Amino acid sequence: MLTAIVGINWGDEGKGRMVDLLSSEYDIVCRYQGGNNAGHTVINDSGKYILNLLPSGILRADVTNVMGNGMVIDLEHLNGEINKLRKSGINITSDNLKISNRAIICLPYNVQQDILEEERLKDKKFGSTRRGIAPVYGDKYLKKGIRMGDLLNKKSLQSKVKEIVQWKNLLIEGGYNSTAFKADDIYNWLVKFSEGIEDYICDTGIFLEKAIKEGKKIMFEAQLGALRDIDFGIYPYTSSSSTIAAYAPIGSGIPGHKLTNTIGIMKAYSSCVGEGPFTCEMFGDEAEALRKAGGEYGAATGRPRRVGPFDIVASKFGVMVQGADVLALTKLDILSYLDKVPVVTGYKINDKVIEYFPTGDYLDIATPVIEYVDGWKCDISSCRKESDLPEKALAYVKYIEEKIGCKIKYVSVGAKREDYLIMK
Ligand code: GDP
Repeated sequence: MLTAIVGINWGDEGKGRMVDLLSSEYDIVCRYQGGNNAGHTVINDSGKYILNLLPSGILRADVTNVMGNGMVIDLEHLNGEINKLRKSGINITSDNLKISNRAIICLPYNVQQDILEEERLKDKKFGSTRRGIAPVYGDKYLKKGIRMGDLLNKKSLQSKVKEIVQWKNLLIEGGYNSTAFKADDIYNWLVKFSEGIEDYICDTGIFLEKAIKEGKKIMFEAQLGALRDIDFGIYPYTSSSSTIAAYAPIGSGIPGHKLTNTIGIMKAYSSCVGEGPFTCEMFGDEAEALRKAGGEYGAATGRPRRVGPFDIVASKFGVMVQGADVLALTKLDILSYLDKVPVVTGYKINDKVIEYFPTGDYLDIATPVIEYVDGWKCDISSCRKESDLPEKALAYVKYIEEKIGCKIKYVSVGAKREDYLIMK
């Protein structure tokens, strides 16, 4: 079984906790894109964990975790994440962590380039997490990347670094008028933070191919959501990688293997980090109340997230591009305080209401059409089966399911592992 678990919205849908929950049924969890620009929050029996780079399966002793070739890896950050987990008792060895030799390393000058560009843009900034992700993906496609496998041959690494740093300084020093990087510093950084990590580097495509032949169950874990996908998202306010399920085989190195199924994670309301069009956005007290109720502050950055009602137009599009077979609706409990629950049912553009997700300039001028459904006004966090849900909460789930046109199989009603129910 090859399952992709992906975000339907703008990210932060609660994928981490769903992967943590469902990974008990899998032998392998593989991250296939992105870097440390987003965070998964997982709360289980042993505590609360924020994972930026490591696959969420790392919290289960019997799961092997793969960081695929589609990822970009900040070595210093990875070191910190591994050490933190080790301190809280998580065992990490070359048996339960495998890192692709083809994954690209995110270097200090990528981070600096990200910061310099955001500063240059001033009030036109993208709201980047300033972790170097766009620059390092840019370098990948310019074929100026250093890959994890390069760490295994320090001699050739040194000359590669020398050439690339010289090239990068044309931009950092020549373009941005900033301090040039020294090749030796970059090389020393790579040596320092690759210590201990080298054992995990291998051809993960070969590892996965063998695992598939042996009938192992593999989960492909995405970061962010459909609306942040570089092709299908709110370009240019997207991430720099493919967040969709179709990229899972490419980003993990198993071309030719069709996914068995795709589980879409969709939040019961909307949130969005950074700049860009967010048609369903709420403002003022209404927004503050939802942000507070949902704890909508970035896991990686602590930034307050923009929030809004559930957006049928955007979510329907997200389900389509992800090709989701079933959905998990998360954080339903957060809406329990509302008398009436707002839902965005259409976008108004130049006095015309549309129900499909537009692009570019149309998205910039779209305003939301909002409808209200009855709130349930009671604590639902102890509901464990469909029949435990109050009638109005169930009606909300069914209303969304019907509008989206995809089965909602799981509903989560709290942050802990067991706070969920399976729909009939
Ligand atoms: P991810 O990047 O998609 O994993 O999203 P986040 O890291 O932003 O996770 C969502 C946040 O909501 C985390 O703090 C989770 O612990 C929490 N969470 C996930 N599902 C639920 C839920 O059903 N109810 C509540 N109250 N919190 C949840």
